[in-house]
Amino acid sequence: MAKPRVAIIGLGIMGSGMAGRLLSANFPVTVYNRSRERAEPLADAGALVADSPHDAAAKSEIVISMVADDAASREVWLEDRGALAGATAGTVLIESSTLTVAWIKELSRAASQRGCDLLDAPVTGSKTHAASGEVLFLVGGSEQALNIARPVLSVLGRDIIHFGRSGNGALMKLIKLLAARATAGDFAPNFVLRLMAKDLAYAIKQAGECDVKLHTAAAALAVFNQAVAAGFGEKDFSAVIESASQAAAKLKSPGA
Ligand code: NAP
Repeated sequence: MAKPRVAIIGLGIMGSGMAGRLLSANFPVTVYNRSRERAEPLADAGALVADSPHDAAAKSEIVISMVADDAASREVWLEDRGALAGATAGTVLIESSTLTVAWIKELSRAASQRGCDLLDAPVTGSKTHAASGEVLFLVGGSEQALNIARPVLSVLGRDIIHFGRSGNGALMKLIKLLAARATAGDFAPNFVLRLMAKDLAYAIKQAGECDVKLHTAAAALAVFNQAVAAGFGEKDFSAVIESASQAAAKLKSPGA
């Protein structure tokens, strides 16, 4: 059976690994990234490079978005030359970024109006897992859409867990336990600190909507926000240790 044409929108740490993985499994892949230079290594590996999310979606039967946050997701799906307007009815749309449930629900409604099914399919795992097809997908959305997406998701992930209706994948991602990578001294970004702070903020907001107070997560977010303010936002999230130890050293010798 011919492999489905797949679009990957967002070629950051995770999206570029996923696109590379699909190319190495001989899927026809079209890529789009806001900053075009990130698409160049994938073009060399055989991907078509689209000029907009709209054009990437128009060439594909399955569209996967892997971008930073709610604002980025809104931009690539809905704004000028967005993917939703390019997708033909019946295209399966997959949002794999870590996002709020409220936004996923809004996007899902917009997809339905277009005659498309949206799966929210955020992932656990990091850079190496994305590149080697070993992420874990936490999926919300219809069984029918998941069955269409399965041949693609099973190349990208070691497992797929279906949690039922739209939004449940996003919810499970926000309430999962976040275990810090123990990488003493190695702050090369696998998952940038700025996005970890964003995930924590979304998790706290989601819990608040269910009247649950996440005191520990709120304290952790304050520490992550401090590290972002101290200039560590683009480093790996493990750099929070470096930020905290610099702050402690300053407290010990304020004149230094
Ligand atoms: P990243 O390396 O920072 O890449 C972010 C991507 O989003 C880039 O392609 C960026 O485009 C794009 N983007 C940001 N703002 C945009 C906007 N306004 N419009 C269009 N595109 C925009 O992030 P990542 O690590 O790949 O993470 C992607 C998602 O996966 C996030 O939701 C993150 O929370 C989640 N996640 C990450 C990890 C991890 O270990 N890295 C693990 C699990 C889940 P430019 O290149 O133009 O900036």
